Amino acid sequence: MSLEPETLKSLVKAAAEKVIASAPELTALDQAIGDGDHGANMKRGFEAVLGKLDVIGSQPLGEAFKTIGKTLVMTVGGASGPLYGSFFLAAGDSLLQSRDLPDDVAEVFACGIGAVRARGRSAPGEKTMLDVLVPVLETLTAAAGKPDLLNRVRETASEAVARTAPMQATKGRASFLGARSIGHIDPGARSSCVLVQAVCDTLEARQ
Ligand code: ADP
Ligand code: MG
Repeated sequence: MSLEPETLKSLVKAAAEKVIASAPELTALDQAIGDGDHGANMKRGFEAVLGKLDVIGSQPLGEAFKTIGKTLVMTVGGASGPLYGSFFLAAGDSLLQSRDLPDDVAEVFACGIGAVRARGRSAPGEKTMLDVLVPVLETLTAAAGKPDLLNRVRETASEAVARTAPMQATKGRASFLGARSIGHIDPGARSSCVLVQAVCDTLEARQ
């Protein structure tokens, strides 16, 4: 599968617009178990990404991912900025200069996740964005090439968000609450779900 500049731009635009539109929801989630800035952080970062859409569309895929990563590192702030930034920087590195997606999209996604785990010193089960990203990676691997891949990824992401509610946070600000973090959805898990689902919706619309 090759990714034409227009396709890449439409994916980035849709993901950015969806996460910007979700800012109030992300704020509310972060008010419950954090400091209430996740919506504003993500909105600021993805508005900056939208501002670079033409540059992103003109770059080879690996470079485009790195531009997204650098922009997020510089603008999102909080814990999530360096983590989302690392995801895209590492995914970009793994793509090198190619404009073609490698056969295994999951491999690129896995590189992004590896960087989040390293930077966050975190693992699944700690009530973070990883609790969505890792299940999505598992589905990308298990359902690769299947016709219902996009649906399965979407379902995986929303089920994974719901599963963060009964978890106790052991990383990030929510961990300061101890057992009181139980019963709330993790804001970063939700923003990851929004991003993943926007990409799936856009890919489906183009099929
Ligand atoms: P901050 O917590 O600094 O206010 P944000 O509110 O923007 O930053 O982001 C919070 C989200 O970041 C959490 O909901 C969680 O998903 C994610 N997060 C925080 N720390 C980690 C970590 N060590 N590893 C993975 N994700 C993390
Ligand atoms: Mg916060």
